Amino acid sequence: MVCARCKEPLDSTYVHAMGRKYHPDHFTCTACPTIFGPDGTYYEHEGEAFCLYHYTYLVAKKCAGCQQPIMKLFLQMSHRGVEEHWHPECYMIYKFWNVRICPSMYAGGRGRVNKQLLKPQNAVSEQQIYQIWTVLSSFEESTATCISDMLLQVSGGHYLEGLRQAERFIMHVDVLFASIDDLEDELSHFDDSTGLQHTREPKLLCKKIVSFFSVLSHTQSNESNGLTQELLSLVTSLAHYLKVLTRVALKGALKAQTEYKCPASIKALLSKLTETSDRQKWALFRLSYQETDITSDL
Ligand SMILES: [Zn+2]
Ligand SMILES: [Zn+2]
Ligand SMILES: [Zn+2]
Repeated sequence: MVCARCKEPLDSTYVHAMGRKYHPDHFTCTACPTIFGPDGTYYEHEGEAFCLYHYTYLVAKKCAGCQQPIMKLFLQMSHRGVEEHWHPECYMIYKFWNVRICPSMYAGGRGRVNKQLLKPQNAVSEQQIYQIWTVLSSFEESTATCISDMLLQVSGGHYLEGLRQAERFIMHVDVLFASIDDLEDELSHFDDSTGLQHTREPKLLCKKIVSFFSVLSHTQSNESNGLTQELLSLVTSLAHYLKVLTRVALKGALKAQTEYKCPASIKALLSKLTETSDRQKWALFRLSYQETDITSDL
């Protein structure tokens, strides 16, 4: 008579469970070292024993965004004929920036329990997902506010105030570009040929910004009221490229943290993006912005 776990002979005290026999301290949860012992409670799933935590984890619905079990509130969506369940924040992140927090695991699909997937060490925590959603959405909202305020001020003839809003807008772009630079730097330490994959977008965004300001300045000289079609379409593309670049940054941070185990990539990105709402950082940015000799950059 041998133990089903260690294959060593059993003596008089052993545990008999699920048709197998174990040394008392070898009868453990399949996913963690919890020992059930002779009278411990265990939960069976597909012929294996689990502790309550891992059993709940296994049978709970998994989020289509982060692959973690959903214990509380969830959204149910149909995607290409398949029912998907989402944490609300994971769904919003997917909806806004087309990013799934944990896409590689999603490819694994159903089937046998993969114990590795039970609790990925480098999984993004629920709290961090919530922070991603709040920081990214307020960043996007505040860029949109800058743009609409710029338009409003300029169309109302308040050019100085319009300029101030323009500076704020540029600060957002500046912070986003700096985050992407940091992430590229971080990812360059690993042999990653795919990188962040954004060659066109920063250039296109800069081009649109230049056109935007040039159209705005014409609005000033012509004293024409109302927003032209041209201006509105420029605003739409500005918002579009900013969204794409936010997506690039988020994907880069997720990649660095979940694939390359950089511990603080997401935290760094979020704190950088939050700088735009920091008064002190804003004051510093204005100073450096005004000191820059613009002609030397051209
Ligand atoms: Zn044993
Ligand atoms: Zn367990
Ligand atoms: Zn989720």
